[in-house]
Amino acid sequence: MIEKTVDYLDERILVTRSSMPPFEEYMEEIRPLWETRWLTNSGAKHRELEAALCAYLGVSHTALCVNGHQALECILETFDLKGEVITTPFTFVSTTNAIVRKGLTPVFCDINERDFTIDVDKLEALVTEKTCAIMPVHVYGNLCDDAAIRRIADKYGLKVIYDAAHAFGVKKNGVGAASLGDASMLSFHATKVFHTVEGGAAVFHTQEDYETCNRCKSFGMIGPEELAFAGGNAKMNEFCAAMGLCNLRHIDESIASRRAAAMRYRERLEGVVGIQLSVEQEGVESNYAYFPIVVHPEQCGHTRDEVLQALDAQNIGARRYFFPLTSSVESFGGAYPAENTPIADKISQRVLCLPLYEGLSVETADRICDIIISLVR
Ligand SMILES: *Cc1c(COP(=O)(O)O)cnc(C)c1O
Repeated sequence: MIEKTVDYLDERILVTRSSMPPFEEYMEEIRPLWETRWLTNSGAKHRELEAALCAYLGVSHTALCVNGHQALECILETFDLKGEVITTPFTFVSTTNAIVRKGLTPVFCDINERDFTIDVDKLEALVTEKTCAIMPVHVYGNLCDDAAIRRIADKYGLKVIYDAAHAFGVKKNGVGAASLGDASMLSFHATKVFHTVEGGAAVFHTQEDYETCNRCKSFGMIGPEELAFAGGNAKMNEFCAAMGLCNLRHIDESIASRRAAAMRYRERLEGVVGIQLSVEQEGVESNYAYFPIVVHPEQCGHTRDEVLQALDAQNIGARRYFFPLTSSVESFGGAYPAENTPIADKISQRVLCLPLYEGLSVETADRICDIIISLVR
């Protein structure tokens, strides 16, 4: 028998919780699949979701994929890149793994201390004649400095591919984040702001790139018996597309609910000595995907891990996103010392993401803030 260690709370609060559409709505959405028996390979739900996402995100071409990681690999394949890709190590492993798995060499650029995106002042110095692309990350939904990145990319003829896994629905001055760069990857994993259980998308500007990507995600086939190249399989199925259609109908309420909790965190934690919050970027409409705090021990006398443990003891599951740096994995054999990206290293040692999801109550956010404040004050 498993002993219950905490008896005064019935449920552990996790860092995230999947949004669910009404059960009946999903049942209605998948009913036609029993009639058509068309379950995958660009079916009706797939086509409908691609169109709905283009409209919602304000983009022209959205290629749905089985998950965000495969979408990223499909983008690299679509552009047929060789050589070095400048990226950041302060991200989920998927970003770096996609570069490595496509036979490309990651070059790690540091991040800035304000919003944790790529430091554009350190970027240009990393360009060599082998550089083919820049892959920045809109980490936590904070948007990268696209104008500065574009200038450097244009100067050296580089592709800009955004890992926009955190930036679903984020807008800057009315422009959708997914429309930035030559391509953007979105993740629709169950834990993300918008999800299709598992899923993702590659967003492009041209019909040609979209069609190449469609071949990449379907074995490289251009006809029933004709192969253009040896592609993999990264197609989204109809059940996942149906989940996406349902979730998209509720996305605005879902983001509003996240917003309420995030605002409460900000209100309570703003100005607490030793606790740094991510900046609110000017002109940016956030999706409230994550709520990171950075714990500075020399100011508040406590480490990030002590805050993590204090929350854990009260059955709150915060997470160390992102620790360790993706450049420090064993398989790189120490090729990328953390000193090369000192800010990324520092933030990764100090950052903690607090629980944030649709339906997280203001009372729970308050309880979490109480634990943090009583520890550090
Ligand atoms: C979730 C995530 C991915 C991968 O997406 P999946 O859909 O899980 O494959 C890539 N990059 C970042 C930053 C992510 O958070």
